This record gives sequence, structure tokens and C-alpha cells, in this order.
Amino acid sequence: MKCHYCKESIGRRVKQCPHCGKVNPTVNTQEIILWTIGMSLLLYLLGWVSGG
Ligand SMILES: [Zn+2]
Repeated sequence: MKCHYCKESIGRRVKQCPHCGKVNPTVNTQEIILWTIGMSLLLYLLGWVSGG
């Protein structure tokens, strides 16, 4: 991924940019979105399986 501030490429798991020192919030946001989608799918599947 790229740094939100200086556009330098940084590691996916790196929260703080080694180039400009700014903390990038994108990693956390993406993980929260993935978690939300995953949990929704799981609940939907569970309801579908148990409800028929
Ligand atoms: Zn940067």
C-alpha cells in the first residue's frame, strides 16, 4: 500500500510511515470493514442454516 500523506510505498502492516513519520489509519479501517462484512456473512449463514 501507499502512504496516505507522502504517497511512498510502505508495508501493508506498517501503521507509521517510515518516510514521513505520519500514522496511516487505512490498515485499521480496512480491517474493521473486513470484520464487519465477515461477521454479517457469518450471521446470515447461521440464520440460513438454523432457520431452514
Ligand atoms: Zn509517508
